[in-house]
Amino acid sequence: MSDCIFCRIAKQEIPATVVYEDESVIAFKDLSPQAPVHILIIPKKHVASLMEVRAEDSQTLAHIMGEVVPKLANEQQLSAGFRVVINTGEEGGQTVNHLHFHLLGGRSMQWPPG
Ligand code: AMP
Ligand code: ZN
Repeated sequence: MSDCIFCRIAKQEIPATVVYEDESVIAFKDLSPQAPVHILIIPKKHVASLMEVRAEDSQTLAHIMGEVVPKLANEQQLSAGFRVVINTGEEGGQTVNHLHFHLLGGRSMQWPPG
């Protein structure tokens, strides 16, 4: 989608600090980090939210959770632990309508989240 900020980052039309990229996925540093490590991992394909995921997307999502997250967690030295968050919809706190996984680490996380 041409008016989607994360689609534009995926196409490198607007700048971001990219920490990982492959055919289907790109990961970049969050502009407003909420922890010492705060990376956003997105499918390059525009999927508006977790509610819009279709069966054809499952391979990409498994790739993110099964390969990209552990790779980045290792690279970012998060062996003490980390959190992956997918805010979904208005009450879920989603502000950018392109599916993204927050990878947060480098400090102790609190529970319950706000
Ligand atoms: P959410 O509130 O879960 O939709 O998360 C959106 C995230 O995108 C927030 O943490 C923002 O700080 C982050 N964000 C928004 N615009 C950019 C951008 N241009 N580059 C990097 N991160 C961004
Ligand atoms: Zn998009």
